[in-house]
Amino acid sequence: MRRFLIAGNWKMNTTRHSGVALAGELAAVVPQAETGVEVLVCPPYPYLLAVGEALVGSAVHLGAQDAYFEAPGAFTGEVAVDMLRDCGCRYVILGHSERRHVMGETDAIINRKVRAAVGGGLAAVLCVGELLSERQSGQTEEVLDRQMEGGLAGVSEAEAAQVVIAYEPVWAIGTGVTATPEQAESAHEHLRKWLARRYTPAFSEKVRILYGGSVKADNAETLLGQPNVDGALVGGASLKASTFVPIIEAARKLSA
Ligand code: PEP
Repeated sequence: MRRFLIAGNWKMNTTRHSGVALAGELAAVVPQAETGVEVLVCPPYPYLLAVGEALVGSAVHLGAQDAYFEAPGAFTGEVAVDMLRDCGCRYVILGHSERRHVMGETDAIINRKVRAAVGGGLAAVLCVGELLSERQSGQTEEVLDRQMEGGLAGVSEAEAAQVVIAYEPVWAIGTGVTATPEQAESAHEHLRKWLARRYTPAFSEKVRILYGGSVKADNAETLLGQPNVDGALVGGASLKASTFVPIIEAARKLSA
């Protein structure tokens, strides 16, 4: 049985003070004994260490929002996988739609990052998802296939065991428009079939596929209740304990 992963992507938000305070609130409600649900927060780089300290003694994991694919060296402004591990990160989000569409990251770049992450001991949350125009023109599955093929090129089954997929339809990210449970389930089922073909059916059953896109307390339970939805990648609602904790609780209820 796949364990739910509820991940908060803080994006370029919080201050050191508010991030530490939020982490402290989450740590208090996710004790070390937490079993049913895995919880992850991904603060901005400058706050990783302080947030990591605030999470000590809890079961909340620390992750980063991106990583560079090269080993430490002359790459001004970039952050290496080794550095993230050194800061206590266990996960890294890669290929987020904002990285793809604002920073212009290609599948080839994202693939290098995925391989560097899993090769360097971080679990990768690989984000995939279609634009509204692509959904409207019936290209959703084609886009997902292309992003999966690109992102996981050359990634072995052993390496892919360190990968979580996040299906994030771009039209649902930060818009308040959520995919219907049926739309989410259909995309997740498609992604699992892709994994079964690329690896093996048995392996595909082990991979967690998160949904992301305007997840909130009032839609979390229905989305997480879909057979192929194994967690959530949460942006806006992860910035306050009062909106993030109910999503964790929805997952706890379903995993009980
Ligand atoms: C995200 O940042 O990955 C995301 C899904 O954002 P939001 O929950 O705000 O739509």
